[in-house]
Amino acid sequence: MRVLRGGVVALAVVAALVPMPAALIERWYSNTLYPPMQRLLTSLTNLLPFAFFDILIVAASVAVVVIAAGAVGAVRRQRRAAPALAALGTLATAVATVYLLFLLMWGLNYRRVPIADRFEAAGDSLSRQAVLQLGLEAAARVNDLHDAAHADPMAGDEWRAAPLRNAFAETERLIGDPARITPGRLKTTLAGPYFRWASVDGMVNPLGLEVLVNPDLLPFERPFVAAHEWAHLAGHADESEANFIGWLTCVRGGAAAAYSGWMFLHWQISAEVGPDDRATLGKALSDGAREDVNAVVARLRRDQWPALQTAGWAVYDQYLKANRVDNGIRSYSAVITLLLRTRFAADWVPVRRAPFTRE
Ligand SMILES: [Zn+2]
Repeated sequence: MRVLRGGVVALAVVAALVPMPAALIERWYSNTLYPPMQRLLTSLTNLLPFAFFDILIVAASVAVVVIAAGAVGAVRRQRRAAPALAALGTLATAVATVYLLFLLMWGLNYRRVPIADRFEAAGDSLSRQAVLQLGLEAAARVNDLHDAAHADPMAGDEWRAAPLRNAFAETERLIGDPARITPGRLKTTLAGPYFRWASVDGMVNPLGLEVLVNPDLLPFERPFVAAHEWAHLAGHADESEANFIGWLTCVRGGAAAAYSGWMFLHWQISAEVGPDDRATLGKALSDGAREDVNAVVARLRRDQWPALQTAGWAVYDQYLKANRVDNGIRSYSAVITLLLRTRFAADWVPVRRAPFTRE
C-alpha cells in the first residue's frame, strides 16, 4: 500500500516536471483522447441542474475533516505521532491523485501547440493605430447591434440556443479543430460569492468538464462568457485563445451574441490603450451601449472585494505559471495580439496555413 501511494505521488511529480513535446500532446491528447471524453463528461454533467463541482468540493471538505479528526484522536490515544504522519500521507496521495486526474481530464491542454501557428500572419499591424482602429470598429458594431440584441436576448439558455451552438461548431471548423465538442450548460455554484467578490466571470470545472459562471453576469455578457468557456471545453486552455474563439463564435452567432462579443472586445481594448485612446473609444459608443458598459462597471463595483480580488488573481497567476503559461494572467491581453496578427478573409474567417487547410 505504501509503495502504491509513493508511486502515485512520484508519478504526479514526474507529470508536473517532465517536459512533454507539444506536437505529441496536440495529436494524441488534445485531438484524439480528449474530445470523446469531453463529449461524454459534459453530456453527463449537462443533465445536472446544479454543479457537480459543488458535490466534489463538499465531499473533499468532509473527507479532509474526517481524516484530520481521526488522526488527532489517534495521536491523543496512542500518544505518538505515527497516525498524524499516516494522515499526511493519505492527504498527499489524495492531492497527487486529483492532480493526475486534472491533467488527464483537461490540464494537459495547457501543453499543446499555440493556436496562432494555425493561421497566416497579417503583416506588421500591432501599432497603436491598428489597436485603436479595431476598438473603433467594436464601438461601431456595438452601436449597430444594441437595439436588436436587447429586443431578442438569449434569456439564460445559451447552451440550448441554436445560433450560438451552431456558431461555435462553425468556429471550430474554421480554426481547424478536428472534432466537435458538446457545449456546456451555464451553472451557478456554491462558489458563486467568490466569483462575485473576485470579479471572475466563469470557469470550467476540469473534473467534470462543466461550465460555472458568476451569478451576476448581465444578460448581454453571458453569450461571450458561454462561448469563452466552451472554447476551454474544446481543449483550448489558454485564456487568449479562449477569448479569440469566444469572440469568433459571437460575431457569427446572431445579434445578441455578436453584441456580447463586440462589447467584450471594446472593453478589452479600452482596458489596454492609453487614456487618450480610451476616451476616444468611450465617446464612440452610443448612449444605449454606454449604459450597458456602465451597468457592467456598477456590477463589478457593487460586490467587489479588492483584497480578495488581488489574492484570487495572484493565485490564478501562479496556477497558470504552474501550468507553463509563462506570462500568467497577462495572457488575457494577448487576445488583441492574436486578433491583429491573424490574417482574416471576409466575415472574420481566419486564414489557415497550408497544413491545416485540408479538411
Ligand atoms: Zn477562461
